[in-house]
Amino acid sequence: MRRYARTILVAFVFLTIFTAVITGFTGEDDPGLKETFDPDEIIIVPETDDIEITMYNHRTGKLEKLPLEEYVLGVVAGEMPVSYGIEALKAQAVAARTLAISRLKRFGGKGCSNNPGADVCSSYAHCQEWIPLESMQKNWGSSFDKHYNKLKQAVYGTAGLIMKYEGKPIEVFYHSTSNGKTEDAGEVFSRSLPYYKVVSSPEGADLTRTGVTFSNKEFVDIFSRYYKNSLDPNNLASQVKINGYTNSGRVKSITIGRITLRATDFRMMYGLNSTDFTLQFGKGSVTIYTKGFGHGVGMSQVGADRMAEAGSTFEDILLHYYQGVTIEHY
Ligand SMILES: [Zn+2]
Repeated sequence: MRRYARTILVAFVFLTIFTAVITGFTGEDDPGLKETFDPDEIIIVPETDDIEITMYNHRTGKLEKLPLEEYVLGVVAGEMPVSYGIEALKAQAVAARTLAISRLKRFGGKGCSNNPGADVCSSYAHCQEWIPLESMQKNWGSSFDKHYNKLKQAVYGTAGLIMKYEGKPIEVFYHSTSNGKTEDAGEVFSRSLPYYKVVSSPEGADLTRTGVTFSNKEFVDIFSRYYKNSLDPNNLASQVKINGYTNSGRVKSITIGRITLRATDFRMMYGLNSTDFTLQFGKGSVTIYTKGFGHGVGMSQVGADRMAEAGSTFEDILLHYYQGVTIEHY
């Protein structure tokens, strides 16, 4: 094991320096990558016992066995733009690894609930996104080597590290973009968790409002797919009412006709970016404006990148978005 770790370390340092030399002349097109090629940085790869995880690949319909860190690499590549700061990518790696570990039976997990026999699946809609090496090669083209090197730094630079609360792997949630604050898990999922508090998130200029417009008929048709109660398409404004807001400023519940539903259900029904929404009724149509993207619980990936940009380490980022956790080897 010791020799294995040292071999990876030597190979990694060599690769980092080698890539630095090669890309020193061409790497200017991506300023976010400069930090990857710090030849002084020594990556210590902690010794692990090479846990193997079983993943259901939703693209091929097959179960695949992968070494943990190789799996984490595919998740970080699939879940976060590689142009993000290295500390944000490291935070993503720890979050991805924590989710995987928390699903393993030997750590008290129950596996992927959609796919018996799998610890996790490769879909962002269920466990977390994972992409194979071929997709990275296709997506990154001639930049593959430098991007892949940066990913390896994020993953092997945090190898084995996960987030724990009271000694156990936490239940991991993260999302793309908050509305400037994160959400209490209890507002979105079935229960609150002590490490998901409402905290500020530095999205900054990325916080724009996005509008999606439905004709009154479309709005009524979508509603009637879920509820029998009919709505009058000619008088929508008087039949729709926002009832209140969560502590993070997102909508808590909305009443439509005689039905009151959670904002998270309304978001799902109408395919909205987030539950931070406002409705604007026009002549024959309604426009729903949203802020942020995702459920808002846990780390905001954009917020993590802003923190990295401002000099935060991956530990700073994780301890901000996951309050009271410890970061330690699994
Ligand atoms: Zn799954």
